[in-house]
Amino acid sequence: MKINAGEIASLIKEQIKNYHHKIDSSDVGTVVTVGDGIALVYGLDEAMLGELLLFPNDIYGMVMNLEKDHVGAVLLGDDTLIKEGDTVKRTKRVMEVSVGEEMLGRVVNALGQPIDGLGPIKTKESRPIEVVAPGVMKRESVNTPLETGLKCIDAITPIGRGQRELIIGDRQTGKTAIAIDTIINQKDKGVICIYVAIGQKNSTVAQIVEKLRVNNALSYTIVIAATASEPAPLLYVAPYSGSAIAEHFMYQGKDVLIVYDDLSKHAVAYRALSLLLKRSPGREAYPGDVFYLHSRLLERACKLNKENGGGSITALPIVETQAGDISAYIPTNVISITDGQIFLVSDLFNAGQRPAIDVGLSVSRVGGAAQYKAMKQVASSIKIDLASYQEMKSFAQFGSDLDASTLKVLRHGDALQEVLKQKQYQPYSMEHEIFDLFMAKHGYLDELEINKVSEALNKAYSYILNNKKELIESIKNEKQILPEVETALKAALSEFMEVYKKELND
Ligand code: ATP
Ligand code: MG
Repeated sequence: MKINAGEIASLIKEQIKNYHHKIDSSDVGTVVTVGDGIALVYGLDEAMLGELLLFPNDIYGMVMNLEKDHVGAVLLGDDTLIKEGDTVKRTKRVMEVSVGEEMLGRVVNALGQPIDGLGPIKTKESRPIEVVAPGVMKRESVNTPLETGLKCIDAITPIGRGQRELIIGDRQTGKTAIAIDTIINQKDKGVICIYVAIGQKNSTVAQIVEKLRVNNALSYTIVIAATASEPAPLLYVAPYSGSAIAEHFMYQGKDVLIVYDDLSKHAVAYRALSLLLKRSPGREAYPGDVFYLHSRLLERACKLNKENGGGSITALPIVETQAGDISAYIPTNVISITDGQIFLVSDLFNAGQRPAIDVGLSVSRVGGAAQYKAMKQVASSIKIDLASYQEMKSFAQFGSDLDASTLKVLRHGDALQEVLKQKQYQPYSMEHEIFDLFMAKHGYLDELEINKVSEALNKAYSYILNNKKELIESIKNEKQILPEVETALKAALSEFMEVYKKELND
């Protein structure tokens, strides 16, 4: 074969040209501007959306904007350590967080690094913080209750494992309290809990961790904190990190409960980032994709079917409203994403009705399927009874002469309201809840003074535990109230009430 010199020359030239092309790699860029936790970087032509970039001083950034001549990245560390002209390297990895059992009982930041001063966490695995949620074929509908230990929720808006139930209400209405009580109630129930604190004060998070510790709930809980003093990008990634940590357990077939406290502050952090990245603002200055921000997060909570291990992630996102306005942008978004909401009201809270749940506006769209039969037996009429009570109460304010049947509804409603009150950090066992609701439903409390209701409940429960323990055991084990148990319980309660009323009169 003959090759002439001209051809060889052109081949070599070609090679040199390609060689240059390869060297001219786009893996290293230069910071053009930096500030407010955002850096614009020139020269990373091949950077991917969501990719991690390595800045000087070991600070990482995440690519959020791909523009024609630069990329916009959010900085996951102190932006004052970065200057214009600094070199930036691509890592070719999307953001990951370390996951595993080793994190239980620990407090970590949004990147999964410990911040509780208890030394390093030796995890073996990590997961990308953003993944596509499992598809419909991998899922099944909720079928196991997630017991909150709060009578009003387990009765009226029951939650199933794998459900997403929003807790919504104004400031200081007991939103966090419901989530913490639910975590405390998961003791010995085989549910791993993750509490993601977004944009709260350090002191508040410290108090919550302390409460979990003294209630023996920290050993099965991971706390992820992105507090108000941290840069917005960390607040933005915190819930996704939490979700990744939860998924690790879910894919092992375990049940996980994750609380996002709260997503209003998450949306505000994302809005700040978006505006700094010069994305155009829309309604309430939020960027157009703010719905996607929360939908792709909450979609990851699900119940997997048997073939996929049967694990679940139950999500309790929290959203704060302004003056009870649930029609604002973020509240309506999250309401439409979740499977129901628990609506807390300031007026009820201030009137001492705690947890301050608005029974009319609170719903659980799927949890009923997972409710125990025993709970259904006692809870079925409560919502209707309370609704007619509220209606009659507003009428009763105008008239003084009330007929006997109206008075009866009002008295029953008053007693019901009293039964649904519950102190903080005192979750009830399922059988105890059912017992209280049984007494309320069958009107044993209707003739008592309101301030005697809770005393009567406590005394009746100890009376039954001391004298007819087998009835409570039967409810606990059968998860339903058998007809003979119902009859025996009614007889025992009538006996008790007779003695108790006599005691009161003496
Ligand atoms: P924020 O908007 O500040 O996050 P929040 O809605 O999360 O507030 P919490 O912090 O849970 O509200 O509760 C507010 C206050 O009410 C706390 O001091 C808490 O101890 C008290 N509280 C909450 N629930 C109850 C309850 N069931 N019984 C008595 N006190 C309660
Ligand atoms: Mg709170």
